[in-house]
Amino acid sequence: MNKSQLIESLKSKGALKTNDVIKAFEQVERENFVDTVYRPYAYTDEALPLFSGQTISQPYTVAVMTEALELHKSQRVLEVGTGSGYQAAIIAEIIGKRGILFTIERLSRLVDFAKQNLKDYSNVDIVLGNGIHGLPEKAPFDRIIVTAAASEFPKELFAQLRDGGKMVIPTIDNRLLIIIKKGGEPMAESLGSFVFVPLVND
Ligand code: SAH
Repeated sequence: MNKSQLIESLKSKGALKTNDVIKAFEQVERENFVDTVYRPYAYTDEALPLFSGQTISQPYTVAVMTEALELHKSQRVLEVGTGSGYQAAIIAEIIGKRGILFTIERLSRLVDFAKQNLKDYSNVDIVLGNGIHGLPEKAPFDRIIVTAAASEFPKELFAQLRDGGKMVIPTIDNRLLIIIKKGGEPMAESLGSFVFVPLVND
């Protein structure tokens, strides 16, 4: 498959829906976010290996998470689990130059890889650390996306979400949740069943 075939297939499955998200998928070259040996498979709808047992998420999953966030231009966004930086690039395209994405990764090798992959994005700030604690000094965020599966309710992250804001987060029992903050309270809905690497707390 090439990029346009992948995009058509994600549209027909209902994963890609809105113009802004489709445009971002057209703009970002997924082949630049995988190891050279996996480049021939960059536009297959599959998760691919990165380093240290981590994976770049499946395009279908990236599409569902990005659509669920309902991103707008100029928003302030936090991502936990930078990995390759592919999901970060998709978000950066949508929020535009006046938006800002902070993305946290706990493995320094992946921080270096993502920095290289995202060097043309002036609206992305990559931080090495344990993302479970978020970035209180940069809060509040309009949107939060966690790309590794959590074993408990992400209290610290939820506290850093603006009221009316949205957070997408997978759980270790393989559910993908969208959590909306309304009057300070969480309202959660499941987006379906998805498997993620675990969110590591260290
Ligand atoms: N969004 C990525 C997918 C990354 S997979 C992409 O588009 O490629 C999940 C990532 O979360 C892995 O890189 C893993 O190292 C990272 N991770 C796991 N627990 C974490 C934590 N507590 N803080 C920050 N990153 C974490």
